[in-house]
Amino acid sequence: MLHPLRTGLAALALFSGLALRPRLRAEPAGPAPIRVATFFPVLNEIAAQIGGPEVTAIEIVRPGVDPHTFEPSPTDLRGLVGADLVLASDLGMESSLERLAANSGPRARVIDASAVLKGLGPYLEVNGRREPDPHWWNSIPATIRVVRKVASELSALRPGSAGAFAARADACVARLQALDQWARIEISSLPEGRRQLVTSHDAFAWFARDYGFTVHPVTGISPQSEPNGRDLAALIDRVRRDRIPAIFVENSVNPGLLETVTRETGARLGGALYADGLSADGDGTTYDGMFRHNVRTIVEALR
Ligand SMILES: [Zn+2]
Repeated sequence: MLHPLRTGLAALALFSGLALRPRLRAEPAGPAPIRVATFFPVLNEIAAQIGGPEVTAIEIVRPGVDPHTFEPSPTDLRGLVGADLVLASDLGMESSLERLAANSGPRARVIDASAVLKGLGPYLEVNGRREPDPHWWNSIPATIRVVRKVASELSALRPGSAGAFAARADACVARLQALDQWARIEISSLPEGRRQLVTSHDAFAWFARDYGFTVHPVTGISPQSEPNGRDLAALIDRVRRDRIPAIFVENSVNPGLLETVTRETGARLGGALYADGLSADGDGTTYDGMFRHNVRTIVEALR
């Protein structure tokens, strides 16, 4: 099964062919900011932080939008016109992303964060097949690799600002490493037997690998998939047998199924996690806030 994000981007690639044409650009006297169009809010934050005043980050997919079901409107796609760089987040999308680049103007380069991380991440079981987990932002080491890639792409576009991009990337990486250290200390208070994450969809394989958790998703890779009765029964058995104290709904998902599990097992709802990136309000409006919220919520509920 395709990750639904791919379906959305495939539709986008088709749609952008209709909505956009290349545009002739007059070069201003001084260097105009590099135009970076982003299809994922975490990538927008990275582009803005590393780019500083040298970049205009154009947010096509905004915080709080479910990336699994996003369908761009013609207005959304206007942000692609004249883009120098397009940052997207998906797996196996190379050909669609190339078409998208072709529609975004003569100069745009398209970077797919999941392609940057190809071969490095954990795999998920999707309808009996193994597929790479697309939720790379739930891993700080993976996010650091993406930060470095964005810095090198910006430097290639504007070599005169390479020093500034590298300095901002170093500062960003230092903040991320401090966040990772903090997370490790918080999580070290959880006994290993308690590091079991029951979540509504399968979004935490990267996080689990970094911090020694096992993930038990109620649904599959997308918030919209439905579990079959046998999988749900197996999950309920697992929660009972391992006395898993809490399970987690996600900010973007209908909690009905998880309520069935709590009723059957006595586990309580541990709180909502940000599974699919940033939110429009609350703790999840920044990467740092999103990650801290997830770690605190998990540690408090499973301790
Ligand atoms: Zn997801």
